[in-house]
Order: sequence, then C-alpha cells, then structure tokens
Amino acid sequence: MRKEVDKKTQYIKNLFSIEECDTLKKIKNHFGDDRDLISIGSEEANILKFFLQLHKSKKILEIGTLIGYSSIIIAKSIPDEGFVCTIEKDPMHYKIATQYIKEANLSEKIFPLLGEASLVLTTLTIIDFDVVFIDANKNGYCDYLSWCDKYLKKGALIIADNTFLFNKVYDNDNNEKTTENMRLFNERLSNKEKYTTILMPTNEGLTIAIKNF
Ligand code: SAH
Ligand code: MG
Repeated sequence: MRKEVDKKTQYIKNLFSIEECDTLKKIKNHFGDDRDLISIGSEEANILKFFLQLHKSKKILEIGTLIGYSSIIIAKSIPDEGFVCTIEKDPMHYKIATQYIKEANLSEKIFPLLGEASLVLTTLTIIDFDVVFIDANKNGYCDYLSWCDKYLKKGALIIADNTFLFNKVYDNDNNEKTTENMRLFNERLSNKEKYTTILMPTNEGLTIAIKNF
C-alpha cells in the first residue's frame, strides 16, 4: 500500500519520528498484514504532535479510530487536562482500540465512541473542540467539514489524513465519486477568506487548516 520511502523521507524519519512506546509498537504489528499500514506513520505522528503543541490544543475530536494508534499519539501530545473523543463505527476496531487505550493507561484521557460518525456527531454534548482530526470514510470528509464549519470556534484546527486520496486527486483521468468528493474537500479548504490551510506532502497527504470564522 505505502510506497518504499525515498532517501529524503528516510532521512527525516530517522531524525524526527516520534518515540513509540510498547503499546504503539504492538498496535503497529497488531494485524500482521497490510492493515497495519492504515494508521498514520510515525513521521505523520510527529507532525501531529508538533501542531498540537504549537496550537496548545486540549480538546480533540478524532473521526476514525481504527485500533487507537493516532488516538494514543494525540493523547500523549496534549497536556494532562486535555482529552480525545474518538469515533469508530466498526465494533471490532472499537473493542481492540479500547483495550490498547487501557493498556497505555489512557482510559481517562481518550474516550472511544462506537457508531457511524455522522450519527455520533449529532449526539455529542461537547462541541467546543480545539481540533478535529478527520481520518475515516473518505466520502464523508465534506460532511465532516460542514460539521466543523457549523460548530467549531474561530481558530480551531481541522486536520485531515489521506487528502491525496492515494494519488487520485491529481489524476485528471480519475472521476470516481470519492475522488470528486476529496477534490471538493480540498477546494473548500483552499478558500483563503475562511481558512489558512497547508497540505503537507506526506505520502498520503495531510491537510492542516485553521478555521478563521
Ligand atoms: N486514525 C487511525 C486510522 C483510521 S482508519 C490511525 O491513524 O490510527 C479509518 C477508520 O475509520 C476505520 O477503522 C474505519 O472502520 C473507520 N470508519 C470508516 N467509516 C466510518 C464512519 N462512517 N464512521 C465512523 N468510523 C468510520
Ligand atoms: Mg489515514
């Protein structure tokens, strides 16, 4: 799935990847197949950590838990009083994530929520998040952005993974619905009146936007 890393990426990885605790190492080898590559990589983890620290973020919403890798990274990157609410629709992923979160002693800082994100979002009582990290079904990104537009405060961060959509967004011959949706997501975030946005050229594409309204 992920391409072999070039020398430049390897150099950056060697110097600046985050330290992985035992639980994170276990998560990265949990399935023993390609599914282990779905979580963010350790270099993207460092980018997340950097921005969360710079932004002094405390209240985080994650959409797409998988088995908890990014949730744990985020929880470890924010102050003690901070917390992460993370939404996952697959009961098996949710269960495994909950176990790893417990193992990492982060049960009081990470709150896994089971369900379809679009539904869970309507039930949230806390909507005053500092950051939303979008990393679930790629067709849902525009809806999640609309939720952010409606509920997030000015100055909040919207972070989204896989915004190159596996190199499809810049392939002009690709007109799949999901590709069109991801293009629309990126185009909406390119509105300079509303957001200050960077699309970090990681392998997968990591978009980081400041909401300015
Ligand atoms: N953020 C994780 C990776 C998430 S992978 C990490 O980096 O460690 C995407 C996850 O989103 C999968 O576990 C998938 O089951 C979940 N997902 C997909 N569609 C969803 C939806 N509509 N609502 C909630 N979760 C969803
Ligand atoms: Mg991802």
